[in-house]
This record gives sequence, C-alpha cells and structure tokens, in this order.
Amino acid sequence: MSVVGFDFGNESCIVAVARQRGIDVVLNDESKRETPAIVCFGEKQRFIGTAGAASSMMNPKNSISQIKRLIGRQFSDPELQRDIKSLPFNVTEGPDGYPLIHARYLGEMRTFTPTQVLGMVFSNLKSIAEQNLKAAVVDCCIGIPVYFTELQRRAVLDAATIAGLHPLRLIHETTATALAYGIYKTDLPENDQLNVAFVDIGHASMQVCIAGFKKGQLKILAHSFDRSLGGRDFDDVLFHHFSAKFKEEYKIDVSQNAKACLRLRAACEKLKKVLSANPEAPLNIECLMDEKDVRGFIKREDFEQISAPILQRVKAPLEKALADAGLAVGDVHMVEVVGSASRIPSILKILTEFFGKEPRRTMNASECVGRGCALQCAILSPTFKVREFQVNESFPFPISLSWKGSVPDAQNGEAEQEQLVFPKGNPIPSVKAVTFHKTSTFSVDVQYSDVSDLQAPAKISTYMIGPFPTLRSEKPKLKVKVRLNLHGIVSVESATLLEEEEVEVPVSKEPAKEDAKMETDEKPNDSSAPGANETDVNMQDAKGTAEAAGVENGVPQSGDKPVQMETDTKVEAPKKKVKKTNVPVAELVYGAMVSGDLQKAVEKEFEMALQDRVMEETKDKKNAVEAYVYDMRNKLCDKYHDFVTASDKEELMAKLQETEDWLYEDGEDETKGVYIAKLEELKKQGDPIEERYKEYSERGTIIDQLAYCI
Ligand code: ATP
Ligand code: MG
Repeated sequence: MSVVGFDFGNESCIVAVARQRGIDVVLNDESKRETPAIVCFGEKQRFIGTAGAASSMMNPKNSISQIKRLIGRQFSDPELQRDIKSLPFNVTEGPDGYPLIHARYLGEMRTFTPTQVLGMVFSNLKSIAEQNLKAAVVDCCIGIPVYFTELQRRAVLDAATIAGLHPLRLIHETTATALAYGIYKTDLPENDQLNVAFVDIGHASMQVCIAGFKKGQLKILAHSFDRSLGGRDFDDVLFHHFSAKFKEEYKIDVSQNAKACLRLRAACEKLKKVLSANPEAPLNIECLMDEKDVRGFIKREDFEQISAPILQRVKAPLEKALADAGLAVGDVHMVEVVGSASRIPSILKILTEFFGKEPRRTMNASECVGRGCALQCAILSPTFKVREFQVNESFPFPISLSWKGSVPDAQNGEAEQEQLVFPKGNPIPSVKAVTFHKTSTFSVDVQYSDVSDLQAPAKISTYMIGPFPTLRSEKPKLKVKVRLNLHGIVSVESATLLEEEEVEVPVSKEPAKEDAKMETDEKPNDSSAPGANETDVNMQDAKGTAEAAGVENGVPQSGDKPVQMETDTKVEAPKKKVKKTNVPVAELVYGAMVSGDLQKAVEKEFEMALQDRVMEETKDKKNAVEAYVYDMRNKLCDKYHDFVTASDKEELMAKLQETEDWLYEDGEDETKGVYIAKLEELKKQGDPIEERYKEYSERGTIIDQLAYCI
C-alpha cells in the first residue's frame, strides 16, 4: 500500500512519500522537487508537469494552468470570471453552467472540464510517486485549501478517481502544515497549550490557521482565508504597471498578444522575486512584441507603493483567525510563515507588526503541505506505524438542513424550515442525526447557513427521502443521519423509520420520552458506514442542540412536524420496542460528476494516457535509430575498422547516411513500428560486424587470463 501525500498548488505541486525512515519529497523526471501544475495539449500528445511548462511558451493557448482556480466553480461565479480574464486559454460556459476549457489536441479543438484537467495533473503526480517508489500508488492524502466548497472538494475527489487515486483524506493545507510542524516536536506541553499561527501565502490565495498544540495532539482553533490574495496579485500589479509603461514608451499593447502577455507576466514574476532580495530590479525583454526590445526598472519602495491595495488586505484574515480562535494577539506564542509568496518583505513586515513578533520560518515553506499530507496518509494507513499524534480538525463553514416545513405559508403553501446541523468549527469527521416527522416522501437540502465567507450558492445538495410505508403511528419518526466526512464533505447518509411497538420492556427510571426527544440507538464508529477510517463524532454539544430542539414548531400539524436533533449517544434502556426500517435516500446530483460521466472520464483519461505513452515510446524508438546511426558510424571508423571489409563498410556507411537523411525528412514523423523496423534493418548489417569484434575481444580477454594463470 502506498503512503503518499500530494500538494497540488495553483502553480506548482509537491509529491511526498512516507518511507520507514521518514517523509521524503521525491524528484520528478527533471530531478526537481516542484512540478508545475500545467497540462499542455499538443498535436500528438499531452505534456504534463515539467514537460508541460517547457511547451507552454510555444503553445500558450493550449497550455492549461491555474486549474485549482477553476475546479468546482460555476461559470457565472464572479471570482472565476475575474480569474479567466488573465488566462491565455479559452474558457466558456458548458451546458451545465460549469466552465469548459478549450484546447487543440490531436489536430482538433476539444473541450475538457477542469476536473478532467486536474485528473491529468494528478496522473502525472501519481506517476512521479510510482517511479520513485517502484510500486503502484493508489492510497494517498491530498491537500486542499480550507475555503474549498463542497463542490470543489467533490471535484478533487472526482479528479483523483480519474487518475486512479484513492484519497484517504482531503486535508486542509494549513492543517497539513500544522501536522508537519507538531508531530516531530518532542517538547510539547502536557497541559498548557502552545498556540501557533500558520500563515500560508501561495500563488493565488492566503490561508491562516491557529492551532493549539499539546503533547501528542493538535487542535485547530480557527481557520481564515482570503481566496484571492497571493503571489500572482503582485505579478498582476507589476504586469499592469509595465504594460502601461510600454504602451506609452514603445507603443505596444501586450494585451493584444497572448505570447507577449505570457512573457511579460513571467518576467514580472521573476522581477518580483528579485525584489524580495534586492532594493531594485531591472526588467528587460528582447523582442517582446512587434520586434521591439523593452527595458524597465523598478525600486522595491515603488513596488510596495503600487501593491498597497493588496498589502492592505493581508491584515483581515489575521484578525478574523484571532477572533474566531477567541485569542488575543499575546496568546499566540509563535507565528510560522509558509507559502512562497510570503517571501515578499512587505508581507513579513505586516505580519511582524500584527503579531508583535517576528514570524519564523522553521518549516520548508514550499514542501510542508506535501509533507503534512504524507504524514496524514501514514497515520491513516495501516502499513505504517507513526508516532501517536491526534489531529483535531475543525470545519470552517456552518452547515444546515432545510426542507419544506409544516407551518403554512400564505403564498408558497409550505414554509422553508432550516436546522443548523454542523456549526462553524464543528469537528471533522462527525455524524449527527436529525429526526423528522413526515408522512410521505420528502426532500431535504443540505446548505451553507452562512455564505458571506464563501461566494458560493447556499445550496449544496438535495436528497429525496422515501418512500416509506405509512404507519399506524400518527407521527412517524424518521431518523436521518447526516455525515461530515474526513474530506469535509457533507451527505445525508441514511434514513431509518422508527416504529414504536406496544411491547412493554423493562421500565427505566426516566419518564417516557416524547417523540420530539432524541433517539439513542446510534453508536459511535458505525462500521457499516462508508469510510472505514472515519470516527463518528456524535453530538457532543448537548447544550447547543438542546437549543436546537427548541426550534421545534410547537403544535404538530397534520402529522408533519419537523425536526428534533439527537443530543446524546449514551445507550439507555428503551421504554418501548422500536422497529427500524431502512428508508431509501437518493441524492439529486448536480454540479459534481454523475457516476456514468465519471466512468467515461476515467476511460477517456486512460485513452489519452495510452496515446501519450505510445508517443513517448515512438520518440524513444526514433532516438534509438538516431543513436545507432551516430554510434555505428564512429565505430566503423574506429574499433570495428579491422572487422569489416571495405565494401561492407562502404555499403553500411551509405545506409547510415541514408537513414540520417530520412530521419530529418520523410522519417521525421513516423510510427513506432516503422522506427523499430528501421533499426532492425540497420542491425542486420551491423550486428555481424559487432559480433566479430566481440568474439575477438572476448578471446583476447581469455588469452590474457590464461597468460595470467600460467
Ligand atoms: P496556492 O497555494 O495558491 O495554491 P502554490 O502552492 O503553487 O499556490 P506557492 O508555491 O506557495 O503557491 O507560491 C507560489 C508563489 O510564490 C508564486 O506567486 C511565486 O511567484 C511566489 N514566489 C516564489 N518565490 C518568491 C520570492 N522569492 N519572492 C516573492 N514571491 C515568490
Ligand atoms: Mg500552496
């Protein structure tokens, strides 16, 4: 079983694997630790990762990057609209309201969903891990931003399925960082809590998390974020600054030229990095556009001045995290900064001022998320024995159920009812049960109770619950189990019809409960539930839910009285015998891929991967022919000289020359089989010469050895 962690960044990705001696970040085929998150579609194959980045300048319109910004978001999402403006490739609205990416692939225009493209990125990361471990990789943990919505989380899981991966957990990036920080600390306090703020400023977003550490555990106290504040915003500022300048000075408008845009953006990013270490930096690009060379220059203080609107936004997530954690600045004992954009000096200055202490960089800023993911995978995987360390995660959004209730509404017939199920900060994972009183099939929506942080539609999913037989009972009870799983995905998992039978059983000391009160048959760690790794955290906050019980709308109306939430998990002696019947639960899928589509996407990926492999092999075979030509030609003039007749040599030399010409002309773009045949043809003539030479040198060695023995 593989134990692998993937950090897929907006810009670059990290693959970390667990080995018996610890966690290693593995190298890709270019011996780099970071792999660009790029898929470049070509005429014959795809180029992914490092190969994708290498081809992207030549083929910007078909090089798909920034996929993390596109997945699981509706086309109409204003943030997505803003994001796609700066992308060099074409994105349009699909029939389902989600974005479609257009690229020229295998000689024709094709469309791909962002999930499919992420699947390609994952396939590449998977193969990097596999080459390194020399074993198949399936089980893994994948880091995701804490602000990912349900749809985005599902899209990541779908993309993982497309790549043939099975994530044991999608873990919040900052939590992975906190885990990588805490698990190796041997001096964590037993009783006091060490509060550490982690600030991650990546390519496109900023995330903050405050974690409390004690011996053997960490507890997330707060998560906060700004989804659109990262390194690329600084690139953007420089890009606009210089494109305006060049328009004026050189009369060129880079916005009219995709390649020029890309080159200027890349130069601005480089410039930004130089400014992190130097007080000023030049920007020179040869032949940027209209055959004009451009020259620019900026001082760090001017850069800071034009970036002021972005820098001003850094403070808000810090304040929010503190407030949500209920801590004062002085309660934060340490600040760790990660994410490569945090190298910008003015950001560090803001952090230092805010926390009243210098942030530390004890973590490897670009690798800590990947390492944390691999650690989490090792913790969840039975194949590794990891130091006991508990991760108490908290979910950043409040989730509620809503349904058409019993209280009549003058206009709509039925009033919309809502019940908070998982408040903000709820532990992950968690299962809660809500009891409904319904007489026939009904639907419930799972939704965010507060979308102010989210910029996403409130509704997450809809479930139909039923049909179920109408019972003798006037108020049939339906216990609906809602699960917040390890990935931070909410689902209505099951519904049970509870029928009280008039069978007297031993009486408990407590008075008989009303039907509005909780049922107590649920045990933690329901092994029948999907996700064997999950621990059901049943409602522990009796106080909160007692209040929730008060939501109950007084008088039952037409037997259709809503909700009562469970408040405890202790098993008590039942007063009446309860007959339980499973009731069907069906999710009305929208947004995420339907399983049939997913299967098709898996097959499609398989086909494309096969095509890539064939092309890679073709290239290898072609290279083999070319190498043979050069090698044989040298040898014929050198060590094979005495083993070939003049006429044979001449004939073979002519053949080699002819093959070389062919490789650059008609044979430039042939199939794998043709190259194999060509090599065989050459070898037919070359092999006998090679044999003779080999035989002679072996004989020579034997004679030498014999001489030595004598
Ligand atoms: P995200 O976390 O947003 O999904 P990511 O994980 O790919 O993206 P990182 O690799 O943490 O992001 O950071 C990439 C950003 O950091 C880029 O914008 C890059 O330009 C910027 N960056 C890298 N080195 C420096 C530096 N020395 N100074 C300033 N910025 C830098
Ligand atoms: Mg990152």
